[in-house]
Amino acid sequence: MTLRVGVIGAGNIGQDHIRRLSHVLSSACVTAVADVDLDRARTASHAAGAEVFQSGHDLIAAPSVDAVVVATWGPSHEEYVLAALAMGKPVFCEKPLAPTTEACLRIVDAEIARGRRLVQVGFMRRFDAGYRAMKAVVDKGTLGAPLLVHCAHRGPSAPPTFTSDMLITDSTIHELDLMRWLLGEETVAVTVLRPRSSTARTDLISPQVVLLESESGVLADVEVFVNAVYGYDIRCEVVGELGTVSLGDFGNVVVAHAGQRSTYVPDHWIERFMAAYDVEMQAWVDSIGAGRAVGPTAWDGYAATAVAAACLESLQSGRRVTVQMRPCPDFYATG
Ligand code: NAP
Repeated sequence: MTLRVGVIGAGNIGQDHIRRLSHVLSSACVTAVADVDLDRARTASHAAGAEVFQSGHDLIAAPSVDAVVVATWGPSHEEYVLAALAMGKPVFCEKPLAPTTEACLRIVDAEIARGRRLVQVGFMRRFDAGYRAMKAVVDKGTLGAPLLVHCAHRGPSAPPTFTSDMLITDSTIHELDLMRWLLGEETVAVTVLRPRSSTARTDLISPQVVLLESESGVLADVEVFVNAVYGYDIRCEVVGELGTVSLGDFGNVVVAHAGQRSTYVPDHWIERFMAAYDVEMQAWVDSIGAGRAVGPTAWDGYAATAVAAACLESLQSGRRVTVQMRPCPDFYATG
């Protein structure tokens, strides 16, 4: 059976998801596209031959739509995810699930009230082959107990609209999710440090260093640097009692030539995580067919936003901030 998907938001990632669902994945097609910018929706829908809607709510209600992808900007995610839940339609929501913990909890509560998991959040790094291999090593126990995690999240340049808070809410949010997933523990406290800023943008605090403390005391440091000029460079190393595991460079090709050792660095996140997006969305499509939800849950979306809220407080105060979270409901512990 082919899953008929409606995509709300036809910007950068929405267009890429439409292409993926239409031409790369199996058992799925795009039947509807909505965007506040009707021309953008029309253009994006063209190759898929999909119906165009100006209202995301009309798209969710359409009989031609079995499942929904939400790829609009963060503050509008809640209303569309809640509308999809109200209709009992599975929904893939791009990160962040919602920008505030209150909004995330309204989604969590609505999903629990519905009685079955219908939400998958777009934390696609959990589907990246490199991160999966790292997690397998950590879970196997070869390294002993994890003690430290070192991460870097660097991009070449940030758009003029990108703010200092967005280094946390848009960029580091991926590492905030990854730490919980890699370690299998909640993050309990955070501190955000402000090193000397790049002169590329005087209005932006970039880089930042985010320190995350897990329940058992593992310390993770995340360097987030959105105007690093040279490329899109993602690094991660887990240091355990008996050894370390590191994420390989993109493509794992190292060239040694004329007294230099060099490796390729992509210049865009789409290129670095292309395969992970494909695997992520195929897993979502397959899970709906199988009637068993997989991947990051609405609870994971809430947890990442809760840690991000603590980071924003620490960015302002410069102090260590304790993460405030509800206890995890059984619904997600077993789901
Ligand atoms: P974008 O290029 O700005 O696209 C968003 C589109 O949605 C725009 O066409 C926008 O129209 C439209 N829109 C905004 N509010 C809407 C609403 N209420 N109803 C219908 N359409 C609406 O943004 P993007 O870069 O694709 O990002 C979209 C989401 O994906 C964000 O949450 C972002 O964090 C996430 N994302 C995730 C990843 C990842 O790695 N998982 C990567 C990139 C983005 P206007 O431009 O007219 O506002």
